[in-house]
Amino acid sequence: MSTAFPTAIAGSLPKPAWLAETNKLWPQWKSQGDELSQAKLDATLLWIKAQEDAGLSVIGDGEQSRQHFVHGFLEKVEGIDFANKVEMGIRNDRYKAMVPQVIAPLKLKGRVHAAEAQFCRAHTNRQLKFTLPGPMTMVDTVADRFYGDRVKMAFAFAELLNQEAKALQADGVDIIQFDEPAFNVYMAEAADWGVKALEIACAGLTAKKAVHICYGYGIEANNQWKATLGEEWRQYSQVFPALAKSSIDQVSLECFHSHVPPELMKLLDGKEVMVGVIDVASSEIETPEQIAETIGQALQFVRKDKLIACTNCGLAPMSREVAMQKLQALAEGAKLAGSRFL
Ligand code: ZN
Repeated sequence: MSTAFPTAIAGSLPKPAWLAETNKLWPQWKSQGDELSQAKLDATLLWIKAQEDAGLSVIGDGEQSRQHFVHGFLEKVEGIDFANKVEMGIRNDRYKAMVPQVIAPLKLKGRVHAAEAQFCRAHTNRQLKFTLPGPMTMVDTVADRFYGDRVKMAFAFAELLNQEAKALQADGVDIIQFDEPAFNVYMAEAADWGVKALEIACAGLTAKKAVHICYGYGIEANNQWKATLGEEWRQYSQVFPALAKSSIDQVSLECFHSHVPPELMKLLDGKEVMVGVIDVASSEIETPEQIAETIGQALQFVRKDKLIACTNCGLAPMSREVAMQKLQALAEGAKLAGSRFL
């Protein structure tokens, strides 16, 4: 009997057309109030089923309940002025976004993701992963009118993330993942205080702790930025050694169709590695053969009991049909690789 490599998605999945605008990173909801709350859970159920049908080993909520991966959290934080958003260049000015402003000490208003986490736990017996934005990426996606210091504000966010992470663990979540695309933009700061902020967010957790670091969604601004990064993308080389020494259990990285030299995975010795075998910037569906090949390359640098096949990033801005097919491809590719390498 052959076994497959474990499989997971990075986090987000497209929202159905009846829930929100499609093919957008910051979509508007199609309903409000109780109707919207119900619609979010209905969409969550749809994607739990799709992930299970595809055969994935780790299930997520597909981030159906949040408009955006950072702002979904910020909406539940006191000290933030959402009514007066300002335009800010984010990820080192790669693109402009309308962001809320921090105007007072940060404090959680209450639970952030209780409804969707408990709903997921009630509807799947598989391993459940829940994603939260990382502290450094949060700092980079909000305008500061209060702290006047990125590190101080990151540590303040990390405390709030830790509160919610502990509550998610109590809800029955098995893996808590922090998304830190900013680690690939501010590499020196990431290795210095970014990982420290993550440790604060993870303090006291017994659930698995993961971090996802990518080159962003497959949107135009990111694709243009990637074109300027040259032949070899070595951004990970600064932060991986700091992560290897940290208490983080799993690291998710981009691999397929990226210019990341696979040998950088060696720097994560001892950690579980979520290897990106699915491109999120292309609608072309990966073949099982391509996926098995990517896994084969990664196995030169990652122990086979530490490898999890994953997507490069979230699938949110893609079409629902393409995302469904990519989930299936992921599972089939992990099976083929299993028959070859396990
Ligand atoms: Zn990502």
